[in-house]
Amino acid sequence: MANLGIPQNTIEILQKYQFRFQKKFGQNFLIDTHVLDKIIDSAGITKEDCVLEIGPGIGTMTQYLAENAREVVAVEIDKALIPILEETLSAYDNVTVINDDILKVDVNRIVEEKNAGKPIKVVANLPYYITTPIIMGLFENHVPIESITIMVQKEVADRMQVGPGTKDYGALSLAVQYYAKPEIVANVPPNCFMPRPNVGSAVIRLTRHDKPPVLVRDEAFLFRLIRASFNQRRKTLINGLSNAGIAGVTKESVGTALEEMGLSQTIRGEALTLEQFAMLSDRLFKNKAQTL
Ligand code: SAM
Repeated sequence: MANLGIPQNTIEILQKYQFRFQKKFGQNFLIDTHVLDKIIDSAGITKEDCVLEIGPGIGTMTQYLAENAREVVAVEIDKALIPILEETLSAYDNVTVINDDILKVDVNRIVEEKNAGKPIKVVANLPYYITTPIIMGLFENHVPIESITIMVQKEVADRMQVGPGTKDYGALSLAVQYYAKPEIVANVPPNCFMPRPNVGSAVIRLTRHDKPPVLVRDEAFLFRLIRASFNQRRKTLINGLSNAGIAGVTKESVGTALEEMGLSQTIRGEALTLEQFAMLSDRLFKNKAQTL
């Protein structure tokens, strides 16, 4: 089968099947062989690997993955793409296509069935409208993952990488950095896609930590606090958290915890590091336990 990274081959297959792009599925297909090589290279794909691809589209990156990995599982929501994938991937016997919504698929089961529960690699040119739920879903469901190498909106890649005190810093930065080491490996302009997106894109690799950089009594409680702290970004941490309706979290308890940590009573969430959120979480969790 012809290499779909070459624009003419993509155009031919789209015309043959009279494919109509669906905006609601965030369909922007890659048409640049350098970018495809870069993704495979950055993900460090070898013949030992089992790879999950989210949203294969017409199978462009899937072809590259099938050539380089032992096994590929590709989950595509758009059923109009399934007959196309049957043709474009017909040369490979190491690819399984699943026609489903990635947010509804039991990825842990796929890992169990295809890789005996051992960590897989995730590679995707993500539909931008659901980038955050996809990444958070993989992490929070504790799917055995070695790394996630994904194309996302440039701005989202920046948000994953930054530290406190910048405008992009927020709940996504903290969540990603709790689970993984993020590294932007390429910036990708709109002309590498068909159709062209309105935004710049970047490939980011998230390498899973063996264990989180901070240890907390209760991970779910830490993330409730983080989300609440950035829900009302402009408020002080004391006001934002005490309004969030979390048991044991009051103006007084947050004030005391901040004082014990040597932080200002007027500090905002965007100034706290992951380590400081972890400390705050453990102090407030202790209060929560006492109020129940
Ligand atoms: N991987 C292809 C490429 O690089 O050319 C296509 C990438 S395109 C940005 C995103 C793909 O994800 C589309 O094929 C779209 O139909 C699919 N998609 C969108 N939402 C999805 C979902 N919830 N679950 C699975 N696939 C989805």
